[in-house]
Amino acid sequence: MKIIQNASLKAYNTFGMDVRCGHLYLVETEKDVPSLFENGVFDSEYMMIGDGSNVLFTKPFQGTIIKMVTKGIEKMEEGAEFVWLKVAAGEKWEDIVGYCIKNQYFGVENLVGIPGLVGSSPVQNIGAYGVEVKDLIHEVHGWRISTRSTFVLRNEDCHFGYRSSIFKTELKGDCIITDVVFRLSKKEAYNVSYKGLADELQKEDLPLSLPCVADAVIAVRNSKLPDIRHYGCAGSFFKNPIVEKEVFDALMLKFPGLISYPAGDGKVKMAAGQLIDLAGMKGVRDGDVGVWPKQALVIVNYGNATGQEVVAFYKKVQEKVMDRFGIRIEPEVNIV
Ligand SMILES: Cc1cc2nc3c(=O)[nH]c(=O)nc-3n(C[C@H](O)[C@H](O)[C@H](O)COP(=O)(O)OP(=O)(O)OC[C@H]3O[C@@H](n4cnc5c(N)ncnc54)[C@H](O)[C@@H]3O)c2cc1C
Repeated sequence: MKIIQNASLKAYNTFGMDVRCGHLYLVETEKDVPSLFENGVFDSEYMMIGDGSNVLFTKPFQGTIIKMVTKGIEKMEEGAEFVWLKVAAGEKWEDIVGYCIKNQYFGVENLVGIPGLVGSSPVQNIGAYGVEVKDLIHEVHGWRISTRSTFVLRNEDCHFGYRSSIFKTELKGDCIITDVVFRLSKKEAYNVSYKGLADELQKEDLPLSLPCVADAVIAVRNSKLPDIRHYGCAGSFFKNPIVEKEVFDALMLKFPGLISYPAGDGKVKMAAGQLIDLAGMKGVRDGDVGVWPKQALVIVNYGNATGQEVVAFYKKVQEKVMDRFGIRIEPEVNIV
């Protein structure tokens, strides 16, 4: 385990916020976890982090940041139809996607290109192009901080929802996720119903295959999202708001053309990006912070914006949407 005192977090968050933390612990093996308790790490302020691609730091973090850098992909079981893979929290998400594509395991390909680590993937139930990671997770393994004991949560116990799970709600701040067990299909099947993806595949006009679907997803993502090597951001800054169907129907009378998706229980999910666009904020920039011109859900740090500036700016976007539609859009990003 590596311990860095007064560490700069600039390289540890994709927004590129240059803040420091009291200590940064890089956990290289699960065997190190008990020593975190022995070192008293959890007796004061602490936070788990992955690749920092869903975090906005607004100030220095006085306490300890803990990052799992554990590695390993283990085939736990294999049947005629499915394979079960136990993957260490510190593996890069993109590496597990690549591993599945190489081995012809189906299910994860639509989630190609999402930054971050495997251990963070269940936390906000990452999703893209009609697939959520909850569709692929069999179990999540880790440690509870409050009880200092290990846990295994089965899929149904993780309370997965839209960009949410038990790790963001009931057990927020109480878990060290060490491994995720995925169940992947060995039978060829694709989910290409998402319009943008279907259009991209049609352009290529190739027989469907895992590399071809993954390439199409990457092409769609590249056409909309900033390259985090050049622009600081955390992907979609806002969640798509879920509203009662009646609220949506009333808005449609005033704003025909609003996008919606069924969200169950008589509710619909609206497209926050469209609301931001119609509220006149797409492409708007204030100093070094702005809404990305090609995708209104993304707030970008164009240079040296501070976390406080990003917060002031996102509140402005939130207000504009509220003024125009009476709908409150909430951040998806963890603001620290
Ligand atoms: C350009 C870009 C595109 C993106 N596109 C998508 C997308 O299409 N779909 C999507 O869903 N997300 C997307 N994201 C958001 C982000 O990539 C995901 O949320 C990702 O899972 C975050 O992983 P991370 O390792 O960076 O986690 P971090 O941002 O470091 O942490 C996220 C949360 O997980 C917790 N956490 C991290 N590791 C652990 C652990 N081992 N145990 C317990 N808790 C832990 C943290 O405390 C924090 O609350 C995008 C981000 C960017 C920058």
